[in-house]
Amino acid sequence: MIMKHFSIQKVLAALILSFILVANPIFAQKKSKSRDKTELSDEAIQKKVKDLLSEMSVEEKVGQMTQVNLNVILENGYGNQDGKIDPALLKKAVVDYKVGSILNAINHAYDVPTWHKIITQIQDASKKTPNSIPVLYGIDAIHGVTFTLGSTLFPQNISMGATRNPELARKAGEITALETRASGIRWNFAPVLDVGRNPLWPRFPETYGEDTYLVKEMGVASIKGLQGDNDLTEPTNVAACMKHFIGYSDPLSGKDRTPAYIPERQLREIFLPPFAAAVKAGVQTVMINSGEINGIPVHANKYLLTDVLRGELGFKGVAVSDWEDIIRLYTRHKVASTPEEAVKMGVMAGIDMSMVPNDFSFYTILLKLVKDGKVPMSRIDEAVGRILTLKYDVGLFENPYPEPAATKNFGKEDYKQVALDAAHQSVVLLKNKDNILPLTKGKKVLITGPAANSKTALGGSWSYTWQGNEDKWYPKDWKTIYDVLKAKNGEANTIFTKGTRFEHRDFDIAETVEKAKSADYVVVCIGEDAYAESPGSIDDLTLNPIQQKLVSEVSKAGKPVILVLVEGRPRIIHNLVEGVQGIVYAGIPGSQGAQAIVDVLFGDYNPDGKLPFSYPAFTGDILTYDHKGTDEVTELSPGRIGHGGYKPEWPFGRGLSYTNFEYSDLKLSSNKLKGDATLKVSVTVKNTGDKEGKVAVELYTTDLYASITPSVKKLRKFTKIDLAPGKSQVVDFEINKSDLAFIGLDRKTFVTEPGTFEVHIGELKTQFDYEQ
Ligand code: BGC
Repeated sequence: MIMKHFSIQKVLAALILSFILVANPIFAQKKSKSRDKTELSDEAIQKKVKDLLSEMSVEEKVGQMTQVNLNVILENGYGNQDGKIDPALLKKAVVDYKVGSILNAINHAYDVPTWHKIITQIQDASKKTPNSIPVLYGIDAIHGVTFTLGSTLFPQNISMGATRNPELARKAGEITALETRASGIRWNFAPVLDVGRNPLWPRFPETYGEDTYLVKEMGVASIKGLQGDNDLTEPTNVAACMKHFIGYSDPLSGKDRTPAYIPERQLREIFLPPFAAAVKAGVQTVMINSGEINGIPVHANKYLLTDVLRGELGFKGVAVSDWEDIIRLYTRHKVASTPEEAVKMGVMAGIDMSMVPNDFSFYTILLKLVKDGKVPMSRIDEAVGRILTLKYDVGLFENPYPEPAATKNFGKEDYKQVALDAAHQSVVLLKNKDNILPLTKGKKVLITGPAANSKTALGGSWSYTWQGNEDKWYPKDWKTIYDVLKAKNGEANTIFTKGTRFEHRDFDIAETVEKAKSADYVVVCIGEDAYAESPGSIDDLTLNPIQQKLVSEVSKAGKPVILVLVEGRPRIIHNLVEGVQGIVYAGIPGSQGAQAIVDVLFGDYNPDGKLPFSYPAFTGDILTYDHKGTDEVTELSPGRIGHGGYKPEWPFGRGLSYTNFEYSDLKLSSNKLKGDATLKVSVTVKNTGDKEGKVAVELYTTDLYASITPSVKKLRKFTKIDLAPGKSQVVDFEINKSDLAFIGLDRKTFVTEPGTFEVHIGELKTQFDYEQ
């Protein structure tokens, strides 16, 4: 084979390649994976990749680095409604331009047979390329399989964060992998590991919340679910994609894809740890942040994409750009003065694959840059080597087609139970004045508000369409809150009015108030309809005035009012809180959300969710729970009323129950922690109420004095337990110096300074000293 293609260029290329293969850690190091006998060993894959690279033309290599959107090969492009491929366009993309990857669904989700047809035709075309390299299809399966009709959708990440239960994130990841692979797809652009520090940001609901440790624990669990034991040839697993590296979630303006200003210390202390942990867990791919940090678009930031991601974190997989983001280095960010410069910048910064995705410009430009010697072949081989390794890893060379063993895993009945468990555990009880909740069944309930009879508000973004706001694609058996409430409480006892739209429209407020007079309880379901990415940007975190009006008007009927907040962002409702009896944060709870909410309202499920963010009371007072002591300026000088401080409507970790939990006996194994030793922390938790319930026990620490002003507290550990009435349990945690660390004066390294630390669990506190 090699002899047939013998030429001086090939010999030179082979020599360069051998050098890269030796110098490049992705080829030199073993990944820790369990493999069965039928699989290729990592060494065998590396050998195959090396051989293949030596056979490939530069056109094929550049093609591998090119990812296009599905519209590029469909009949009628973006106007397509049925997933039907245009054979000429398919040939153009796969055979002529030799694209390595295709992504997305156009306009809405498809059924499994349609996906199989799409994937089969694409792979048939790939067989007509010189080396028959299969195409890697990538999809956003964000909270379940977004783009396959009838898939199981789980709560959005913000609600998963409220569960404080990584095992649920793992299970949701596992089912997502099963249903993605059943659709014939082996690469999922999830999970989002951005830390939700800015609640205005429209992708806040896609985060697991404001805390780094919570995001890290939930994110790693999700990756474990998606990738299983990291043997991706298995028809049960898919390659995960940690995104969006890094700093996407804290734009100054709160709008999507706008500049962030993040000091190096915060970048490393707040935003980097989830990505570092994901790399350790073996995540296969990464997607890059579309935004800029401190004036440098991340797609052009070699320091972050190569020195930090590869050098420090040791990431060896594929780095894919986000949507059009190499083009945007020129058109939007204006750091490149030509499209050519943009491609060179992105590739040299460390991007292996460009989600171009609407044309072949990346291919044409990169090919020329390589031929002109402006992008070295070594960089191309490095990127293509990673892409081919991934294709071997997911078993595409063995069989690129939809696998019957995977197909049978679609839509199993028991997936619904996991979605229900997750939804139950995500509901957060915020206010329960005079124990108005749980409601007594069989009494007259008026249910109203824009989220009361909405499927899309429960699904949120990435639900059968990108925006998630088209009801017609949702499964027929998907229930609204009103549907479930009516079934549980009896039709005769349930009155429904629309109330208002999410924005601007009063349907029947006056009539609602009248009807409320004859009800025993009024349940008002308010919040946000589905949105994704930039279309979800808002100018005001305050709940829309029309919804506020509905609540304040209906409160005048004099009946107990319970608010159900269906929203991924904490929409400010300060003026309403006092006047209502009950408030439930339902987040974006997914396919079983309505059942979970109504179960909580009537006490068929005892709520145990905890807020994964600080719920602000005022638009001008948005602080995270781990703010600095100096954010509180109430006692600067005697006699002067201060301002500022952490005064949320409800703090991070808030979550009431229908039972009571008491904490006692907070004990440490020692009052000194030395060097690398471990400190054991134990606490007794007792259910002193009369209902069984779960509780997430959270351990926080405070560094009393430090060279960098310490946070007032930081979450270090959590675990969820289940207690019958009257029962108690001793909960044990272990902490060591890395749990106490912060980024020190050098702005780069985690340090733990000697000194006194406080441990808090519930209302209890104790102290210990750390010595080096
Ligand atoms: C989003 C990504 C997503 C990609 C592909 C982008 O607009 O930022 O999160 O994976 O589109 O759909």
